[in-house]
Amino acid sequence: MVELFERIAQRIGDGGELVALTGAGISAESGIPTFRGDDGFWTRGSTNYRPEELATWRTFASDPELVWPWYLWRLARCRDAQPNPGHTALVDMDEALGNRFTLVTQNVDGLHSRAGSPEHRSYHIHGNLERMRCSAECNANTWPVPDALRVFAKGDAITPADEPLLRCPSCDAWARPHVLWFDECYDEKWFRYRSSMSAAMAADVLLVVGTSGSTNLPMQMASQALRSKALIVEINLRESAFSDYAVQSGGGLVTGPAGTLLPKLARRLASGSSA
Ligand SMILES: [Zn+2]
Repeated sequence: MVELFERIAQRIGDGGELVALTGAGISAESGIPTFRGDDGFWTRGSTNYRPEELATWRTFASDPELVWPWYLWRLARCRDAQPNPGHTALVDMDEALGNRFTLVTQNVDGLHSRAGSPEHRSYHIHGNLERMRCSAECNANTWPVPDALRVFAKGDAITPADEPLLRCPSCDAWARPHVLWFDECYDEKWFRYRSSMSAAMAADVLLVVGTSGSTNLPMQMASQALRSKALIVEINLRESAFSDYAVQSGGGLVTGPAGTLLPKLARRLASGSSA
């Protein structure tokens, strides 16, 4: 047994709270590309667009028919992927710990939900490709991408048949992907910002899985967890921006794939504090 996993089990004991924070690494083990680099390019006419250009409110507001096909193609790629043993192990931890477990994920691919992580204990801090919402914010709901919408391949354009399915059913404005764009801010209403920070504050253990620490809220959560004396343990293929926080907290980095390490930790937690 990994020594740090033993320390996690001791901290969780009979009453401790565990927050798992996941990033692209766990999805990569299911074959989901990062959509940065060449794989993320979107070509229209003679122009190549980078994800950082397409994934903004500014671009969507001026050209929704450029942005939507890229997201629908990404969604199709994600739906082709399957949850892996790392996702399943997090469901096992949820079942073992109940309301002492919280999942905070940066991933928008829906794999945690498909593995069975319950929505009421899952904070999707960058949104969810499976859902859309009104771009005019006429209401505070998200809804599933309609089943009637066809599967998009790379380079597909929106047709007149697609468009009604991409409109808000209440006000007929364009619906938008329910994701956090590069020029938008975290908030509670759509992305559970305060809830995630509260979970980090209450955590006895913060488990950081497959994330590099290149986004803001996860780093704030690690900083908060350190201040409130949580044990921080990182599962990652290599050191990241979280590694220093983990060491300072008395924890550290466990190097390896989530799909191998998380099932070991889940089994240890399921056996209780005295195993
Ligand atoms: Zn609307």
